[in-house]
Amino acid sequence: MAAVITLSIMGLLFGLGLAYSAEIFKVEIDQRVEDVDELLPGFNCGACGYPGCNGFAEAIVAGEVDKLSQCKPGKDEHYDPIIAYLEDHPNKDGSTINIKK
Ligand code: SF4
Repeated sequence: MAAVITLSIMGLLFGLGLAYSAEIFKVEIDQRVEDVDELLPGFNCGACGYPGCNGFAEAIVAGEVDKLSQCKPGKDEHYDPIIAYLEDHPNKDGSTINIKK
């Protein structure tokens, strides 16, 4: 009986520790990065100079990219929805990400 109680208490403590750690170390994700990534061609070829489409999407949302045409396989059908999306989803301070094709 003592073993069951001991293991139950240990399980509870470890569970609380994991829950606390998950809250402390959680990473805030900007949903716009995921959405822009979905709008890119998805070849993950690296021709844009970034480590895959997600890396390029992160750079776009961070405002580090001037032209979407850095994505070589991309076409207007990719660029136009990204530009429209970014116009509709400004930064937290209200500024918009201005990017060209
Ligand atoms: S060039 Fe375009 S398709 Fe290739 S990794 Fe960069 S964003 Fe993705």
